[in-house]
Amino acid sequence: MGIIEKMRLDGKKIFVTGGARGIGKSVATAFAEAGADLAIVDVDIAEAEKTAAELAENNHVQAIAIKADVTKPEEVDAMVAKVVETYGRLDVAFCNAGICMNIPAEEMTFEQWKKVIDINLTGVFLTAQAAGKVMLKQGSGSIINTASMSAHIVNVPQPQCSYNASKAGVIQLTKSLAIEWAKRGVRVNCISPGYIGTELTLNSPSLKPLIEQWNAMAPMGRMGKPEELQSVCVYLAGDTSTFTTGSDFVVDGAFTCF
Ligand code: NAD
Repeated sequence: MGIIEKMRLDGKKIFVTGGARGIGKSVATAFAEAGADLAIVDVDIAEAEKTAAELAENNHVQAIAIKADVTKPEEVDAMVAKVVETYGRLDVAFCNAGICMNIPAEEMTFEQWKKVIDINLTGVFLTAQAAGKVMLKQGSGSIINTASMSAHIVNVPQPQCSYNASKAGVIQLTKSLAIEWAKRGVRVNCISPGYIGTELTLNSPSLKPLIEQWNAMAPMGRMGKPEELQSVCVYLAGDTSTFTTGSDFVVDGAFTCF
C-alpha cells in the first residue's frame, strides 16, 4: 500500500467539536473526504445539522450532529456516549471548539475571564478526558486539540490575555495527556494555527479592522485558509502518525518565527 492509501481514514469514527463552521468544519470535511464517519458537535445545532448533512451527501460517509457545550461535563459525556452508541467505537477526537475575547486585562471581569478559560482550556480537558476513557479501553485512539500561535506569542495590537493563556494551557495539557497515555495506545497532539480566515476573525467587529495590520506583519503577507490546516489533521488522525504524540504543529506561515 502506498503512503497516500495508508493516510486514508476509511471507517474511522471521529468527532469534531466546534465542527459546525470554520476550522472544525473544514477539517471535518477533510476527514469525510478521507473516508471517516463523523459526529459534528457544536452548541449551534442548526448549523451542525447542515454541516453533517453536507458531509454525508458529498462523501458517502455517515455523519450525525450532536448538540453539546464543551464546558458542561454531563453534555460532553452524553455526546461521547452517543458517538459510541452510534458507531460502536471512537478512533479520533478533534477538540477544537474555542472563542476569543479582546478586552484589556485591567477591564476584564471575572465572568469574561472564566468564559474563555472554560471553553478553550477546560472544554478541551473535559472533551479529551471523555474521549480518552473510551480510547484507553479500546487500547487505541488519536486526540487532536486546537491550540493557537497565541500560545507561543502575544498577538498585537489586540488585548487578549485570557485567550493567549488558555491556548498556552492547551499545549501543556496536550503534552501531559500524551505522556500519561503514551504506553496505552492513545496519542495526543495539538495544532497551533496562525491567523485563519473564519467567522472568528473575518466577522468579529473587534478583529476585522485589524486584518490589514496583521497581514503587514505576516511573512507571507496574508492570513491562512481553513483548508490549509486539513492535511496536518488528516495525518494526525491516521495510521501514518503512530510515533507522533505530545507534539504541537505550528501552521502559521512563519508568523511566530521572529
Ligand atoms: P469559529 O467561531 O468560526 O467556530 C467555532 C465553533 O465553535 C462555532 O461553530 C461555535 O458555535 C462553536 N462553539 C463555541 N463555543 C462552544 C462550546 N462551548 N461548545 C461547543 N461548541 C462551541 O472559530 P474558528 O476560527 O473556526 O476557531 C476554531 C478553533 O481554532 C478555536 O479553538 C480557535 O481558538 C482556534 N484558532 C482559530 C484561529 C483563527 O484565526 N480563526 C487561529 C488559531 C486558533
